[in-house]
Amino acid sequence: MRECNFAYRNNRLISRVPEGIKGVGLLDKNLKGVRLIDAPKFIVDTNVGKLVKWLRIMGYDALFFNGSNDSSMIATALAEGRVILTRDTQIVKRRVVASGQLKVVLIQSDKPELQMQQVIDTLNLDCQFRPFAICLECNQPLLERSKQQVKDLVPPYVFQTQSQYMECPACHRIYWRGTHWQAMIKKLDQYMKG
Ligand SMILES: [Zn+2]
Repeated sequence: MRECNFAYRNNRLISRVPEGIKGVGLLDKNLKGVRLIDAPKFIVDTNVGKLVKWLRIMGYDALFFNGSNDSSMIATALAEGRVILTRDTQIVKRRVVASGQLKVVLIQSDKPELQMQQVIDTLNLDCQFRPFAICLECNQPLLERSKQQVKDLVPPYVFQTQSQYMECPACHRIYWRGTHWQAMIKKLDQYMKG
């Protein structure tokens, strides 16, 4: 079973990951096999809501903003250091954005696949950043579960064929790398290639 150890160092989250796994972040030369996670976190406006799921599939922390008050979205983004993804041109006119205090990606297309491409290109995201790490429904970090722990929670066929499982601590959904998951990763790959 893969182990994930987390620790803070210089205010950055450090994750111990198996070697050879691709990811964004800065490599700390003093800590072999340890990667600093300095990845962007997002707050996604309702007008580009489909981006939420794709960002979570990639493993990025993506909060969905379904309110109508731009100021509260901006306040959350500032407080939590999140990048705003929106199609709202008014938001980029705000002083906090012009001054560089807050990062906003103004999404151009109304097509989700082009929106995703724009975000990936603009922020140089890695589609394989942390697959299988975030709950697609509630944005919570998933926890590793043993096969025995999920025995009565997954369909028998899945139990027979899958060995790695993750659970969301909030909604208790169980995730495994089944065909549905593989199809999503494949689609993501296509977005990347344009
Ligand atoms: Zn969940």
